[in-house]
Amino acid sequence: MNDEDKNESFQLNLKKIPPMYVYALGGLGEVGKNMYIVEQGNELWIIDSGIMFAAEISVEGVIPSFEWLEKNQKRIKGLIITHGHEDHIGSIPHLLNSVDIPKIYAGRIAANLIWSKLSERQVPRQKIEIINNKSVIKTLNFKIDFFNVNHSIPDCFGARFKSKHGTVVTTADFKFDFTPVGAKADLYKMASFGNEGVTLLLSDSTNAQSEKFSISEKQVAENIDDIASKAKGRIIAATFASNVFRVRELIKIAIKYKRKIVVFGYSMDKIIKISRKIKYLNLGEEVIIDFKDMDKYKENQLFIISTGTQGEPTAALTKMSDGRHKEIHLNEKDTVIFASSEIPGNYENIEKVVNNLIKKGVKLINNYNYPGVHASGHGGMQEQLLMINLFKPLYFFPIHGETVMQVKHAKTAIAAGIKKENIFIIPNGRKLKIFSGKVTLDDYVPTDDIYIDDTNLKGQSSKVITDRNSMSEFGVITITIGINSKENKIIINPEFASYGTFNQQKNRAFIAQIETKIKSNLELYYRSEKRVTFNGIKEIIRNSVRNEIYQKRKTSPIVIPIVLNCNFLENN
Ligand SMILES: [Zn+2]
Ligand SMILES: [Zn+2]
Repeated sequence: MNDEDKNESFQLNLKKIPPMYVYALGGLGEVGKNMYIVEQGNELWIIDSGIMFAAEISVEGVIPSFEWLEKNQKRIKGLIITHGHEDHIGSIPHLLNSVDIPKIYAGRIAANLIWSKLSERQVPRQKIEIINNKSVIKTLNFKIDFFNVNHSIPDCFGARFKSKHGTVVTTADFKFDFTPVGAKADLYKMASFGNEGVTLLLSDSTNAQSEKFSISEKQVAENIDDIASKAKGRIIAATFASNVFRVRELIKIAIKYKRKIVVFGYSMDKIIKISRKIKYLNLGEEVIIDFKDMDKYKENQLFIISTGTQGEPTAALTKMSDGRHKEIHLNEKDTVIFASSEIPGNYENIEKVVNNLIKKGVKLINNYNYPGVHASGHGGMQEQLLMINLFKPLYFFPIHGETVMQVKHAKTAIAAGIKKENIFIIPNGRKLKIFSGKVTLDDYVPTDDIYIDDTNLKGQSSKVITDRNSMSEFGVITITIGINSKENKIIINPEFASYGTFNQQKNRAFIAQIETKIKSNLELYYRSEKRVTFNGIKEIIRNSVRNEIYQKRKTSPIVIPIVLNCNFLENN
């Protein structure tokens, strides 16, 4: 057979092979709840299973709908986790509750975070195959292999899916850091994948709007070291617990200056414990001390690592700033470092904390007065350009980001030479079909936003939430309350709002009476022997309101309790 004949028979055989499809069940047009699917024939692979936090509604967060996966249960071959951040692993307990996953593949840190999450949720422990950048998975339709990328957490992997119809690469969350504090990115491997040919590239869009090349984590560590070397009193460093590299660097700096470490914040405590368990952090027992032992040391022997970079009302740092913290009373010798960035929407809260800290006279360091005490885990436009140039894909699919970020990322791809018509800005659920090296738009699979809270692994679909909202137009009463579910405390007093049933102006005294009644009934509940649950709290609120209103007006309105779990705010 000559080459042309060979090619023809290959094409003929290819026609018999079912097409490959790539799509998202979450993660497009949003930052959070990432879940991408690669499938061909009877093989369906899930990449990541994340959550999106929603602090403003009466739920813990939003996860993808698993309806499509339930329908396709038989074809599911496995779940591949790119890294251990919540927007990639946060909905795994819910997923396992809905479908059987034959096998989970994850890096070491991610696997341990998943196991801890499953045990917190009382979901049976699942076997996880630990992967690294050398792992290879071979199946009937695919060869799947991995490469290291730089991000803010160790063990972050991009993945390549090779099939007869084409090659799909997903970058995972990435930046480029040429002097990383962790493993190096597999630049040569990426370039050689590029040389072998990439049909479609899925790439992280988060920082598409940033023109700058992100600064190296090593530089950040050196800057913080410099600040620490000059500090006279306590050092209080606040950062994201999700930035595992940063947390480790802070610990190293504390040890270098012979300071004892005190940790505040649930998520910070958890990530340090897991890092120690898997020996990512090798620390002597004496390095981290209990906050109760702080007074055994001088102030310049202490290094406090804390969450609360976003001015969360219940975070330790916020309490220190306004004098509510029992153990730490700040003074002008202390240095407070915000090794973090502002998440949009939190500006006011952060400003409040910063102002209070200034009033206390502490030495305040943040990215404004000392640029370089924080670096993002996501690369900006320059780095996205580099990624595209390494893989040289024929088609481009900007993922992981709001639409505005995807659009900017698409422009970058055009600048890198990708044809405009080969770039896909599509919503969750829209399928891309890959057949014989060509990528085309296809139909939709069902998607939805599922709202979940602590009590319910199944969640409620956005339709139910919409129904609730439309009901409110016809007349309901909502009671909003903020609680700390760990300490059984009311953080935000009950607030009454009525829609269509009640003239709030004329009934102020009565409304105040209802609010007081709710509060006292809840306090009774907290002090009782009963186990406190979210449903219990909601029931108390409903009954308190109904009783008061029935006594006075003999009507029974619909009451919707909105319980904000404020300790959640501490977990960023
Ligand atoms: Zn991430
Ligand atoms: Zn992410």
